[in-house]
Amino acid sequence: MRLTVIGCGDAFGSGGRLQSTFLLEIGDRKVLLECGATASIGLTRAGVDANAIDTILISHLHGDHFAGVVWMILSAQYLLKRTTPLRVVGPPGIAARYEIIAEALFPGMTKVERRFDLTFDEITPARPFADADLQVAAVEVSHPSGAPSYALRIEGGGHTVGFSGDTEWVDALVQVADGADLFITECCAVDRAAKFHLNWRTIEQNLPRLVARRIMLTHMNPDMLAFAPTIASDRILIAADGMRFEV
Ligand SMILES: [Zn+2]
Ligand SMILES: [Zn+2]
Repeated sequence: MRLTVIGCGDAFGSGGRLQSTFLLEIGDRKVLLECGATASIGLTRAGVDANAIDTILISHLHGDHFAGVVWMILSAQYLLKRTTPLRVVGPPGIAARYEIIAEALFPGMTKVERRFDLTFDEITPARPFADADLQVAAVEVSHPSGAPSYALRIEGGGHTVGFSGDTEWVDALVQVADGADLFITECCAVDRAAKFHLNWRTIEQNLPRLVARRIMLTHMNPDMLAFAPTIASDRILIAADGMRFEV
């Protein structure tokens, strides 16, 4: 599995980073993990053919993780002339929430006849998502978003990626990271308490329990961005837009 960081910013554009969007390549498959409002910009910047992405996985329905689906579908329809199916997998209510934001931003866009099939699949802890190459499990975390918010555990191509989504510390993250090749975790701040988010001190305290081969910090505020180089190591990776590596 190969990971490309398309965007690893917080919701506010800190450090000039694009919002949460990660490209996972499993063999010939291209899967998007998160789709922040800036996803289409980031994919274009990275030279990724968005039509080759067949599945988009969403941890929770906040704009900086999900709103990019609107522009993905808009560009698929009008610019990229997509014809192949697109599947969006996320928390319960994702189809209705998409309809609300799409119609608010581009009235009428959900009524236009598309040249490609668009499917929204709901994932829950009781109902994981799986297809031929990919298994995705959801674990509920603590981050109000108008729908359940999840950490995700993604297996494909013999590798496993755990992803915290956005959340304050919950012990379930230990299972999400357990034995993973890579655990991607939000790290909003250094030590300031940010409600419903994680800071570095909390992650650091729990490092012995986070048994992933490598841990990548993302979703950083300006203080954390300035501090991050001091903790970077072979095991602790600091996400940066454009970063690309084998998981
Ligand atoms: Zn959020
Ligand atoms: Zn966020």
